[in-house]
Amino acid sequence: MYHSTKYWHKLDDGRVQCDVCPRACKMHDGQRGLCFVRGVEEGEVKLYTYGRSSGFCVDPIEKKPLNHFLPGTSVLSFGTAGCNLACKFCQNWDMSKSREMDTLADSANPEQLASSAQRLGCASVAYTYNDPVVFMEYAIDVADACRERGVRSVAVTAGYMCPPPRAEFYNHMDAANVDLKGFTERFYRKICGAELGAVLETLEYLRHETKVWFEITTLLIPDENDSNSELEEMTRWIADKLGPDVPLHFTAFHPDWKMMDKQRTPPATLTRAREIALKNGLHYVYTGNVHDPAGSSTYCASCGTRLIERDWYELGEWRLDGQGRCLQCAAQLPGVFNGAPGTWGARRLPVRIAV
Ligand code: SF4
Repeated sequence: MYHSTKYWHKLDDGRVQCDVCPRACKMHDGQRGLCFVRGVEEGEVKLYTYGRSSGFCVDPIEKKPLNHFLPGTSVLSFGTAGCNLACKFCQNWDMSKSREMDTLADSANPEQLASSAQRLGCASVAYTYNDPVVFMEYAIDVADACRERGVRSVAVTAGYMCPPPRAEFYNHMDAANVDLKGFTERFYRKICGAELGAVLETLEYLRHETKVWFEITTLLIPDENDSNSELEEMTRWIADKLGPDVPLHFTAFHPDWKMMDKQRTPPATLTRAREIALKNGLHYVYTGNVHDPAGSSTYCASCGTRLIERDWYELGEWRLDGQGRCLQCAAQLPGVFNGAPGTWGARRLPVRIAV
């Protein structure tokens, strides 16, 4: 089943160019783009994965990771297939690199998905596992159905998107976690098959031109993107261009996909990165994928009180009022808060939605 799309144009040589992401795939009839889920049929770019999913799971929102967006609540997570990047270290390659549409065993239309999220008590739905950029039409329709029911939408993305579709996409999103995969063009080109500049532009766009709550994640890979100089440059750029209040998560790599020759990220690397980011003025810096209560908790930027105690995805002590203000000094913690924290905990619950 093909779904119509609108971000494309015809070229003089008879091919059709997709304008969703900076890859700008140019295709003849019957060809597919690099993401493999958009392709040209009868002279137009179509999406092949609308309404189809690789599976649904209820997760803690902290797993996306989002630490300042409705903490403790559950999120209905799903993805489709395909990706517009080609990261050699992909930690979800079975879905993102899938060229077999039969991995899309589950299906759900936007109404079914939104009503399931509501029935399951999820505060939000996350477009994740593979990048929603490549299935934006489906994600947008689900987000609209969710909004009607008071369920929010979260994009988990690499931020590699052209400006016009990006503006439409984020109009429908409430929050995002954007991967900033490294801070050199070499890393983006050689390891991810993308361009750093386009991702930085998305981060600045989100910060200065939208109200979308967003946090940044960097997966640290030993000897690839974890040098002191690269971390210094990255965190200074974030502080300077995005301000000190955008939360930053440093997460641990494990060998996967085409990068099996690297060791796991030592916890000390995450701690070193966090210290560099804090020194450069960022207020909310987290270590992830490790048990590190000190590095995964949230502290007041004004008085230093520990506001949210965390160990991996589990919340502990909570020292905020219902609007997210510090109980000690009343300073506002940036983010989205709605009363008491959720009580979902660290559980992961696979669910079937298909009729
Ligand atoms: S979204 Fe897919 S088809 Fe379109 S330009 Fe990007 S990789 Fe190519």
